[in-house]
Amino acid sequence: MRGRAGVVAVLAVLLLVVAGCSGAGPARDAERPLVLTTFTVLADIARNVAGEHLQVESITKVGAEIHGYEPTPGDIRKAAEADLIVDNGLNLELWFGRFVSELSVPHVVVSDGVEVIDISEDAYAGKPNPHAWMSPDNVARYVDNMVAAFSNLDPANTDAFRANAETYKAQLRTVHDELVTALAAVPATQRALVTCEGAFSYLARDAGLTERYIWAVNAEQQATPQQVASTIAFVSENRVPAVFCESTVSDSAMRQVVAATGTRFGGILYVDSLSEPGGPVPTYLDLIRHDTRTIIAGLTGSAA
Ligand SMILES: [Zn+2]
Repeated sequence: MRGRAGVVAVLAVLLLVVAGCSGAGPARDAERPLVLTTFTVLADIARNVAGEHLQVESITKVGAEIHGYEPTPGDIRKAAEADLIVDNGLNLELWFGRFVSELSVPHVVVSDGVEVIDISEDAYAGKPNPHAWMSPDNVARYVDNMVAAFSNLDPANTDAFRANAETYKAQLRTVHDELVTALAAVPATQRALVTCEGAFSYLARDAGLTERYIWAVNAEQQATPQQVASTIAFVSENRVPAVFCESTVSDSAMRQVVAATGTRFGGILYVDSLSEPGGPVPTYLDLIRHDTRTIIAGLTGSAA
């Protein structure tokens, strides 16, 4: 009996694997409304609100450069079947306006209502910094906007979405408190967060860190000699103990800063994408915890 049950279990797993591998992405689930998000971080947050009631998928894959993404014909075909598209807004998805104009699918901008920080430098000065999800407090607003949109889409499950949102918002408060408490322990002389992209304004505000970056927004993907020189000057003058770069961009410019100043390369931070499920940041809450640990370890010279 046990052997036969084992064979059945193995067959069931094989069927699941085959189903998961067929075609591009998971099959359309006929039972549940399909919600597409523009990137993986939003998909994880949306799944926490949707529970089992909606099918949530990300248009861009793990590790994708999301600012200057070029949607494929397959993305457009898939999005045409969606019941709702979730985007961040604040000019994050530069490709998005053109993308949705080809579709007749409703969309919700989940950053609506957050307290925006403007970019202070470069060609983007005065424009909103799009990375508002890097503050867990802001994500609570994202969650409220998702509850409203999901309830419109699937009114019968409104109570479930609200209950899921309350549970998740409690976890957001916990991770926010952990971040603030842990980073408060970094000595005043070491409280600078130097990264490739200026993606950490919201986290730096919450944690009371001075933020500095090589370029404001991933777009050209190319650090200019002036940007690199100015970062080198800042790191040298302030004796910044460590610098960081993000998972979705090349760290070569930051390696130049390390070579020129003798500072430490503190490691890879996640912001615009989660990792694969088996990687260091399979969820948004993991992302904030991972970045907090990496920043502290880099700035204080302790083990992550
Ligand atoms: Zn970014």
